[in-house]
Amino acid sequence: MSWAERETYVEEVVDGVFAFIQPDGSWMVNNCGFVVGTSGRSVLVDTSSTARRTAQFMDEVRRHSTRPPMALVNTHHHPDHTYGNYQAPDGTPVVGHVLCRDEVLAAGLEATKVITTPDYGDLELRPPDFTFTDRMTLHLDESPVELRYVGPAHTSNDVVVWLPEQRTLFAGDLCFAGGQPFLLEGSLSGFPKALEIIRSYDPQALVPGHGPVVRGDDVGRLLDDLTAYVEFVARIAAEGRAEGLTPLETAMRHKDNPYAGWQETERLVGNLHRAYSELSGAPILTRLRVPDVWPEMVAFHGGPIGCKA
Ligand SMILES: [Zn+2]
Repeated sequence: MSWAERETYVEEVVDGVFAFIQPDGSWMVNNCGFVVGTSGRSVLVDTSSTARRTAQFMDEVRRHSTRPPMALVNTHHHPDHTYGNYQAPDGTPVVGHVLCRDEVLAAGLEATKVITTPDYGDLELRPPDFTFTDRMTLHLDESPVELRYVGPAHTSNDVVVWLPEQRTLFAGDLCFAGGQPFLLEGSLSGFPKALEIIRSYDPQALVPGHGPVVRGDDVGRLLDDLTAYVEFVARIAAEGRAEGLTPLETAMRHKDNPYAGWQETERLVGNLHRAYSELSGAPILTRLRVPDVWPEMVAFHGGPIGCKA
């Protein structure tokens, strides 16, 4: 059986560090995780897109920890990582970047109107309660859990969760392992800088926002591939824009490309929109909305984009 065909599973990445991995990692099918300290308390990393998926995640948290979580961290505001925040045990504070809170509140539940097929359950919007701008350390018993802002990259508010003692990194959606990056709401110029910060930690294991856990030398290879992808997008954006092509036209011209084997190829269209915006001299983080670009991504895809959440 291929990885993509597997059911959701929990992988103990290193002692006390658990990844909740959801194949096939496509739209709205994300990973979460949790770290359990010596006292049995935990720090949770992200929730999921539907009430059913987050309930399964919370079951796993309870199975592997003996006390209530000390905090839930959001790596960014996207719905697949935050819609289940309200399902954390009572009294669990939600921590995220200050712009994560803003974006959760601004987006509301609009993703349920764009990707309509999942049974989301009775969602309640729950943004981070505690916010920071640059970095924050959670002291889980004796072990630090370091939160660092690395955006703008995938979004305005990307945070990585670094465990220095376990040399393990939760990368959020800076890393899709096996899928195309998605930079429509982030920054093409910022993304490589975020990858370099991740590289500087020299993680021995990396939990991506989507896809299987990456270990050892494969971490560097993944970061190399993602960097090369962004260079590719930047190059074809500059060429296409100079010729007067729209982002969709540029994407169609390069439909056959070295990254066409990665999942969610339609993200190329969104990424080109962001590249064009930055090439035009528009300010970083000029608002480009997924619902506005989604129809072009559907056109590139050649029909409705499926969602397995
Ligand atoms: Zn995301």
